[in-house]
Parts: sequence; C-alpha cells; structure tokens
Amino acid sequence: GMEGRAALVTGGTSGIGLAIAQRLVQDGLRVAVLDLDRPQAREVAQAHGLAFIGADLSRRADCRRAVDETVAALDGLDVLVNNAGFQHIDPIAAFPEDTWDAMLHVMLTAPFLLSKYAWPHLTRSGQGRIVNVASIHGHVASPFKSAYISAKHGLIGLTRTAALEAGEQGLTVNAICPGYVRTPLVEGQIADQARTRGLTEQEVEQKVMLEPAAIKRLLNPEDIAALASYVVSPAAWGMTGAVLDLDLGWTAR
Ligand code: NAD
Repeated sequence: GMEGRAALVTGGTSGIGLAIAQRLVQDGLRVAVLDLDRPQAREVAQAHGLAFIGADLSRRADCRRAVDETVAALDGLDVLVNNAGFQHIDPIAAFPEDTWDAMLHVMLTAPFLLSKYAWPHLTRSGQGRIVNVASIHGHVASPFKSAYISAKHGLIGLTRTAALEAGEQGLTVNAICPGYVRTPLVEGQIADQARTRGLTEQEVEQKVMLEPAAIKRLLNPEDIAALASYVVSPAAWGMTGAVLDLDLGWTAR
C-alpha cells in the first residue's frame, strides 16, 4: 500500500502542489512540501500538517540541501513530485534574460537535480515514483511564453529519459500535462489579460483561455491531484515514461 511512504512535493504550498500534497496525506503518505522560504508558505504547510522545506529551486545548492532535509524530516524519500513553476509573458525580442535563466532552472534543471540527488532514496523501496507536473505547453506552443514552453517541453524529455533509466529499480517516472487549472498562477493571468484586452474576467476565461478546449470549464487543483494519486499508487506500477494529458480536450484537435 501507500502507507508509510514518504513524498516531497515542490511548490507544495499553493495551487496544484498543495492539492497533491493534501491528497497524498489522505492516501496515507508522509509528505513534505518545498517552497520559497516565506512566512506565508510556512503557515500554509503548518496549517495542513505538512513538513516544510524552505528552498529556492533556482539555486543548485538549495536543491541538494532540500533532498537532505527531506530525508531527515521524513526518514526516507520514495515519491518526488516536481511541481514548482511560474510564468512570465513577453515576446522573445523583449524577454528578460535573467528571467529565462531562472525559469529554465526552476522548471527543468531543478527537477533534474532533485531526481539526481534523490535517486538512491527513490530506488530503495522498489515502488519509487517521480511525477513531473509539465503542462499542455509541454506539447504545444502559445506566443509570448518562450521560457515556460521550452522548460516544459524539456521536462517531458527528462521524464522519458529517467523512465528508461529507472525501470529496473521499480521507480516509475511520468509527466502530467494539465490544461488551465484555477490556481493563483492562472487567476493572475486572467486578471492581467482582462486589463490588457479590455474584457471581463469571465470573457477572458471563456473566449481566450478556454477557446481551444472542448470542455469550457477550468480544471480544479483536486482534479490534477486525483491523477497524481493514481500515478503514485502501487496499481500504476506498469505506467512509466507516460505523458498524461488532463487538458479539457485542448490537444484533441
Ligand atoms: P502556483 O503559483 O499556485 O504554485 C506554484 C508554486 O511554486 C508556488 O508555491 C511558488 O512559490 C513555487 N515556486 C515558484 N518558484 C519557486 C522557486 N524558485 N523555488 C521554490 N518554489 C518555487 O501555480 P500552479 O498553477 O499551482 O502551478 C503548479 C505547476 O503546475 C507549475 O509547474 C505550472 O507550470 C503547472 N501548470 C499549471 C497550470 C495551471 O493552469 N495552473 C497548467 C499547467 C501546468
């Protein structure tokens, strides 16, 4: 069963990460959440009974320390959920270079480093799991999101490579690709677009964000957590290297 297994969820004090952390606790795992070390993040973790690991994933040394602290706090590490991320919107010609570096580090290099440093722990039980939260933007592009889309495409490549390397040890590695999910990240984008396009937030949701979707309703973080729960479960032992779309039909066309 899942009982007694130890999980680390990055970006685990907000949105999709928090929903995954809560769901894994319900499933009987011991869970730590990694996030930027801010009082509010610590409070969220504490309020949900989650161990808190303060780290900035744009820094290599923090990734190393985060794995060590998690193993110490949970007495092991069987499940790694690489979920932390952020968006920046600008055309390539104006895209800030430091922002590009930070986004690639947080959303691609950190999942590599955490996988590398955690590997000896993740392969111990024979039921280890890496779940990479990519995006529908790991498959398809939209304008003005060059760093995000490049990082997410790369994360799918890392997922497939790690799956091939991990198979013999019962460690599965999969990617989840959500369409738009109602989280602080997306609420911010809706507000921005409403302002810049002179639309209501409702119009931005329906006409801009959900335009390519078959189901015209934003996902909830719990919907992503339910899929993550399955991927982490022992029943999913044979699923690895999979790129799992949960995208309201966006990529069906
Ligand atoms: P969110 O902003 O609610 O949560 C992201 C978390 O990552 C935050 O807690 C943030 O503090 C943390 N984080 C950011 N930079 C960090 C850093 N340098 N070090 C440590 N932590 C850092 O966002 P969300 O919508 O829940 O997104 C979670 C993941 O899901 C992201 O990878 C995002 O790309 C992906 N995703 C989101 C959607 C969506 O519609 N919301 C769709 C597809 C994919």
